[in-house]
Amino acid sequence: MIKTYNTRFGAAVLTIPEDMTQQVTAIASGGIDSTLLLYLLLENGVIPEVIFMKNANSKLEALYDCVEWLNKKFYVSLDVKLHERTTEGHYLRPEIQSIASSVQYLYTGVTALPEIDIGGLPPNRPKLNKTVNGNTIMPFVMLDKRAVVQLYKDLALEELFSKTYSCAVRTDEPCGACFQCYEKDWALKEVYDS
Ligand SMILES: [Zn+2]
Repeated sequence: MIKTYNTRFGAAVLTIPEDMTQQVTAIASGGIDSTLLLYLLLENGVIPEVIFMKNANSKLEALYDCVEWLNKKFYVSLDVKLHERTTEGHYLRPEIQSIASSVQYLYTGVTALPEIDIGGLPPNRPKLNKTVNGNTIMPFVMLDKRAVVQLYKDLALEELFSKTYSCAVRTDEPCGACFQCYEKDWALKEVYDS
């Protein structure tokens, strides 16, 4: 089954396995993309095993807050597994591929970079033109953050949004000066001020 979520910034394409007995795994960081991904899966009756992968812009406390909110909303109890990286380097793609090889279906909330310069040093994200690659499903891979923020607005998920954390600097409050902060601010302005 394919569920499409249209926004004025493009459509998220969520592919759901036909066989619901298959194990579904989702990588989550507590950020806005992967948290929306978890919401959309649960909304469609898919209960994923959640993998928290430690990286530059992930915050376990934020993920726990988001998962707690989702658990109450959908009457589930998501399991969060902490994942130790097994591949080297800053780029996460080899790590994601290594996780994909050990599960049946893997979902990630990866988004595309903005096409304009918004300041800061952009991370290395894959540029892909399909949302399914082998057993890896990436509903937002062709969208930038504006579509993700628009979906939070359209689905009335501002409360959940407020529990997410996307800053790459590991401080209690977002630093406001890293690429991830610029990107979130840019998307918020685009969605709410235009
Ligand atoms: Zn920041």
